[in-house]
Amino acid sequence: MQMATGKTIFQRIIDREIPAEIVYEDERCLAFRDITPQAPTHVLVIPKQLIPSLADATDADSELLGHLLTAARKVAVQLGLTNGYRTVLNCGRDGGQSVDHLHIHVLGGRPMSWPPG
Ligand code: 5GP
Repeated sequence: MQMATGKTIFQRIIDREIPAEIVYEDERCLAFRDITPQAPTHVLVIPKQLIPSLADATDADSELLGHLLTAARKVAVQLGLTNGYRTVLNCGRDGGQSVDHLHIHVLGGRPMSWPPG
């Protein structure tokens, strides 16, 4: 989903053009609560650098991708997800990705089922 400005909704959150409930931020990423939570805790971890999807990442992005997972772990600790949580990274149309800015979902606060829909 792309706005008329050419920015995705997530870029507009990074640029503080639209509000979001930010729970974690560092120099390379931002984490904020999903507007349509699918679990009691549902946070999105995104890089500040635009990578549209995992399919667009390159080997040069490996450290950043690891940084995002590390941030997801920190968010889970910070939000008290001591019983566990699920991380999800939807990629492309078949993967169910709806915003073209790579993001990791962190879902917790209830038991998760498998397989995903
Ligand atoms: P995807 O389907 O691409 O994996 O996940 C995109 C997520 O972004 C969805 O869970 C959706 O609820 C969330 N989302 C879409 N627009 C906004 C918004 O404006 N603010 C926030 N906080 N989340 C959004």
